[in-house]
Amino acid sequence: MPATVSAFDRIGEENAFAVLARATDLARQGRDIVNLGIGQPDFATPPHIVEAAVKALRDGHHGYTPATGLLPLREAVAADLHRRQGVTVSPEHVMIVPGGKVTMFMAILMFGAPGVDILYPDPGFPIYRSMIEFTGARPIPVPMREANGFAFSAEETLGLITPATRLLILNSPANPTGGVTPKSEIDALVAGLDRFPEVAVLSDEIYGQMTYDGLAHQTLLSYPAIRDRLILLDGWSKTYAMTGWRLGYGVWPKPWFDKARKLVVNSFSCTNAASQWAGIAALEGPQDAVRTMMAAFDERRHAVTAGLNRLPGVRAVVPKGAFYAFPNITGTGWAAKALASALLEEAGVACIGGPDFGLHGEGYLRFSYANSLPNIEIALERMGRFLRDTVKRP
Ligand code: PLP
Repeated sequence: MPATVSAFDRIGEENAFAVLARATDLARQGRDIVNLGIGQPDFATPPHIVEAAVKALRDGHHGYTPATGLLPLREAVAADLHRRQGVTVSPEHVMIVPGGKVTMFMAILMFGAPGVDILYPDPGFPIYRSMIEFTGARPIPVPMREANGFAFSAEETLGLITPATRLLILNSPANPTGGVTPKSEIDALVAGLDRFPEVAVLSDEIYGQMTYDGLAHQTLLSYPAIRDRLILLDGWSKTYAMTGWRLGYGVWPKPWFDKARKLVVNSFSCTNAASQWAGIAALEGPQDAVRTMMAAFDERRHAVTAGLNRLPGVRAVVPKGAFYAFPNITGTGWAAKALASALLEEAGVACIGGPDFGLHGEGYLRFSYANSLPNIEIALERMGRFLRDTVKRP
């Protein structure tokens, strides 16, 4: 068999899927596993969205769509951004793609090359680093610090920019920490970017509608100074519980949009037609299902952090966004990945070790609270028993 000699030898992956596979394996063997590992809402897609897809199929929408998406969907995205964020976006700059990840994939491919630096949050979504390495660019982690509420520090981020930097990846609200970067810090970051006009920005706002305590999401689209070098990543997966539909979008400056369109034509041709019709129904239909889901996440957010803070050696800040808690477990004496693995194998609780999100994730675990309150209580109880036994061990 010929050896592969290519960028494929540098590609990484997302350990959350490996944990899910192991948890499923154990469950198949009869073990009772509470899964707080996977990052997808435990809600069904709202029925009116499902119906729109069924209707599209019944109405004969079976063919290719335009490569960049159905025009009514691109218009609906522009209208939604205006309604929610007060920003003006031309539908011509909106590219529909199969999931949030695809915009990240295309943006990193567009700017990554040997000799180039790309800044990305650490701990952060693991695909950023994996894709940066795939392109041959140098990954430069921007530390997300607990002491800073896991938010970006404008000063620290700007201090990492060098003449080789071509792309800065931002993510707020954030996976895996639930951190939200305050407006004041984004203001300072954007003002500082004035000094670095050659740096493009990818803002991953897939959790943009998932903030708590009335905290408003601050989109990078609302800064005219960087609109000509900003790529916005968003999608339906989290907001509308549509991870399996594979539907996302990017908002691109026009010159880059045309390049990205060619990559679409060269790879997946277009996004699933029925999913796109469902996407229109999601944006234009009632939004109460989103509010109901967020109210449930909010209640679990408090239950999970209160419970984690009662565990020996564990300290958790209350997350401001997304549906993840990212407790500090250094007080347990365990290394994070070893503890995640022991919790799964011995206590029947699936979670993800912080190092799976980058070097700065050591000392932390990620718990997704996209699971029912009773299951969360069971998981906390099992972890408490496990830690009380093991933390006492010499
Ligand atoms: N960006 C972040 C920060 C995520 O956490 C995820 C999914 O977990 C994605 C993007 C990808 O979303 P999608 O499932 O729509 O590809």
